Amino acid sequence: MTFFRLTFLSTRSEALTCAVRLALCRSRLILLITRLADPLGRTFTTEGSNAVPANPSTYDVNPLEHPASAEVPSNPVALVVQKFGGTSVADADRMREVADHVKRTRSRGDDVVLVVSAIGNETDELLRLADEVNNEPPGREMDMLVTAGERKAIALMCMALHAVGVPADSFTGSQAGFETDNNHRNAKILSVDPRRVRDSVDKGRVAVVAGAQGMSTDNNVTFLGRGGSDTTAVALAHGLGADACELYTDVSGVFTTDPRVCPAAKRMESISFDELLEMTAVGCPKPAMRSVEVARAFGVPLHVRSAFTWEPGTWVLEEDPAMERAIIKGVVPDTSQAKITLSGVQDEPGLAAKVFRTLANALVNVDMIVQNVSESDRTDISFTVPLEDLDAATATCESLADSLGFGGVTADPDLGRVSVVGVGMASNPGVAATMFETLADNNVNIEMIATSPIRISCVVAEQDVDRATAALHTAYGLD
Ligand code: ADP
Ligand code: ASP
Ligand code: MG
Repeated sequence: MTFFRLTFLSTRSEALTCAVRLALCRSRLILLITRLADPLGRTFTTEGSNAVPANPSTYDVNPLEHPASAEVPSNPVALVVQKFGGTSVADADRMREVADHVKRTRSRGDDVVLVVSAIGNETDELLRLADEVNNEPPGREMDMLVTAGERKAIALMCMALHAVGVPADSFTGSQAGFETDNNHRNAKILSVDPRRVRDSVDKGRVAVVAGAQGMSTDNNVTFLGRGGSDTTAVALAHGLGADACELYTDVSGVFTTDPRVCPAAKRMESISFDELLEMTAVGCPKPAMRSVEVARAFGVPLHVRSAFTWEPGTWVLEEDPAMERAIIKGVVPDTSQAKITLSGVQDEPGLAAKVFRTLANALVNVDMIVQNVSESDRTDISFTVPLEDLDAATATCESLADSLGFGGVTADPDLGRVSVVGVGMASNPGVAATMFETLADNNVNIEMIATSPIRISCVVAEQDVDRATAALHTAYGLD
């Protein structure tokens, strides 16, 4: 069982780690009491992991069913799901380091389930290869190809564990019980039945699960999309009733902004699910957005940390109302935006509905939408889409131009977005004014603005994104 020290806590980070450990011990105690109180030995997950989503519709959270048939016997020791990204298992040396880390975690008394990504940049390499063979590859074959990366990684990881005397079993997504929808390349998890994973752990072994994959309802291999291994780890942690989910990566946690863009970026000790969800929704790549949605929906405590230094990272938790709220927690740059403008659109009911329904059917993700005040009976509508959806979105709009009678479709790929996020902005006036003043002082023109209660985003020229990010990081006192 995990132990914790009652010695003097010299740093805030130690205090936080201790607080989290106390919380985990509490959940384990609840688990133990539940087990003792149930003479039939039926299984229960911990209190928090069954929490009802605050607002399930907001982010289209999948109903991660935990089927009644999937009885998962629980242990009174801690169970931790550890996920390692591509760079963390990039070669044999890195895999040995991970194996050694798992061995040390187990020597503490904890059980470990590992989730791994494909080695290094293998996913990019497979995607590039597919594109060379066929630039419109069938989704089913694409998923068969891409998931091979994770499959190699789990076998090699198990071999590395065996080499240091840790018994381990590898599991593909379907063997680990991940059932998904049929949406190839970006499948959504429908349910997780982790019986085989649990059995392996109960036998004193480490289960090593391939990230970002599952089996569709029509029995095809599916890929959960880029960054999907984070989602695998969180969903598995929920399905197993694990005490925590640790996401190991090549930086030491979640930073106040992208450390590659702004060297003044600082690691956060903790962040709330809501804030991190907003950050990931507007371009922060770590952790993957869907993993944060699932963690928030089911109350899975997340710890984002370094696979290189092993130091404590960033805890992602429910917001503690007693904590002083930072006004701005992070600044998020995003250079993967594009804008489409439809000009001379008839200003009449139902027209926007037709355009955006057709775009939705073409699986284009529209973000910000601006409709100008109409002159005579015509107006312009501009909206942003991810750069990768620009061609599909432009073609869709052009196909509508004649039937809906609008003048033209203009595509602008050179756009970016910069966003500031923090729960404290809800109770502090002037956050937007500071943002606009800072951008103006740095000669950055704002093309569009969007807000949520805890976020302000501005669309700007792509070339201005890095400069705007650094200036806002300074302006909100994050340097
Ligand atoms: P992994 O492969 O381990 O899943 P990713 O490569 O997908 O990890 O994401 C990690 C990268 O995200 C880091 O190398 C870091 O440069 C980048 N990143 C961008 N913004 C942030 C941020 N605010 N906090 C942490 N990392 C960030
Ligand atoms: N290997 C996949 C990717 O690079 C899945 C993952 O790592 O999460 O996106
Ligand atoms: Mg990744």
